[in-house]
Amino acid sequence: MAKRDYYEVLGVERGASEAELKKAYRRLAMKYHPDRNPGDKEAEEKFKEVNEAYEVLSDATKRSAYDQYGHAGVDPQMGGAGGGFGGANFSDIFGDVFSDFFGGGRGGSRGGAQRGSDLRYSLELDLEEAVRGTNVTIRVPTLVGCKACDGTGAKKGTSPVTCTTCGGIGQVRMQQGFFSVQQTCPRCHGSGKMITDPCGSCHGQGRVEESKTLSVKVPPGVDTGDRIRLSGEGEAGTHGGPAGDLYVVVNVREHPIFQRDGKHLYCEVPISFADAALGGELEVPTLDGRVKLKIPEGTQTGKLFRLRGKGVSPVRGGAPGDLMCRVAVETPINLTKRQRELLDEFRKSLQGDDSHSPKASGWFEGVKRFFGDV
Ligand SMILES: [Zn+2]
Ligand SMILES: [Zn+2]
Repeated sequence: MAKRDYYEVLGVERGASEAELKKAYRRLAMKYHPDRNPGDKEAEEKFKEVNEAYEVLSDATKRSAYDQYGHAGVDPQMGGAGGGFGGANFSDIFGDVFSDFFGGGRGGSRGGAQRGSDLRYSLELDLEEAVRGTNVTIRVPTLVGCKACDGTGAKKGTSPVTCTTCGGIGQVRMQQGFFSVQQTCPRCHGSGKMITDPCGSCHGQGRVEESKTLSVKVPPGVDTGDRIRLSGEGEAGTHGGPAGDLYVVVNVREHPIFQRDGKHLYCEVPISFADAALGGELEVPTLDGRVKLKIPEGTQTGKLFRLRGKGVSPVRGGAPGDLMCRVAVETPINLTKRQRELLDEFRKSLQGDDSHSPKASGWFEGVKRFFGDV
């Protein structure tokens, strides 16, 4: 089948301006786009034809070759003038309109410069360190710019040369099914340059593995999962790209006494059966030292006593949390003969009078109701 004239394909005059070409192309490409015409072979062919026409006419060199020699001057199968069938960058023209079809990818980074990867470092802290803040020194294995070649990857005294695969554009055109797309050049990874004499230290990578020692200031109040960002302390970029960031992720170790829930702390305090019954004063631990806690008489096990402000000052500001002390009444063990006698006497004194057992009396009532005894 003879090829149609490119101007005819786009429906423009031979002297059409760049803007007119672009407008015509945009209209036709939208009309025949395969996503709008699923399974329509004719639309597919048109779409392909329109793309090809625009690729040639939007390139001044190819357009003049076409104007002079017709299809023979620009036959894409012949490779075209200057190697690499560059032409229109499809996604550039359509911007976001077609971004879905291209997965939003717009040919990667300009000039091959790539930002280094972000790094994550897990920092284990004791509760006290997390609450009060601390300065720690960490060693992070990472990639840093190669000093031997200043990060270029080329041996000292040599420079990278223009990539022969893409002619320095950093992009190559690939036929994918019925239309062609631009892809990052596989040889130079988009930089447009290639290294003929690689640096011995980094083997041409421009980066080397190194353990970096960093000082990290941990603010008071951090908790498990909080991240401290160290800007630019991630992996070095490539081809002049910026370094990534380092995220120090806090993990607070279990504490033998305190459990933490956000800004509040919890601890369990054992008290004697006698102290619980008669009341008394307990010494309880806080992060700032011991404090006295008054226990009223008749305290039941599980009762929470709140020590206001003895929790954690949140890292993002706000009032400090509280320390909750949960008392656990202990049953005495290893009793002497005398102690047994006293307790036995005490037990007898309770018999037939459940007014001394606030929980048990209600509980036995419940059991009786359950069995229908009352
Ligand atoms: Zn290349
Ligand atoms: Zn190097």
